[in-house]
Amino acid sequence: MSYDPNNVFAKILRGEIPCKKVLETEYALAFHDINPQAPVHVLVIPKGAYVSFDDFSARAAPEEITGFIRAVGETARSLGIVADGFRLLSNVGANAGQEVPHLHVHLFAGRNLGPMLSKNR
Ligand code: AMP
Repeated sequence: MSYDPNNVFAKILRGEIPCKKVLETEYALAFHDINPQAPVHVLVIPKGAYVSFDDFSARAAPEEITGFIRAVGETARSLGIVADGFRLLSNVGANAGQEVPHLHVHLFAGRNLGPMLSKNR
């Protein structure tokens, strides 16, 4: 899939749509999800134009990968969610229900998050 520069996270990166920012670095932006699924629900996105984790892992430069991963960890630490635990999730493509075609990692925390996947088959 080619990158759509009009996706909602591209608009957030360009400042065309507001976000509740948690952290910003040279390589990444973290902000609160607009429809939180847990007491803490934050998204971390790379600043580069990548559709998904698959695209990012194949094409991103080493410094972008390092910068993004470090920003995910820094976001978790700045939210104070490391001690009690949290969940990282990144949906890729249709079967995972990816809605926004710009790589994002969800950080969920603030309660017991239950089983990793629903039991529905
Ligand atoms: P996914 O299904 O993994 O693609 O997740 C997309 C996420 O983006 C959902 O959890 C949405 O609630 C969230 N989202 C969509 N638009 C916005 C927005 N403008 N600001 C913050 N989060 C958003």
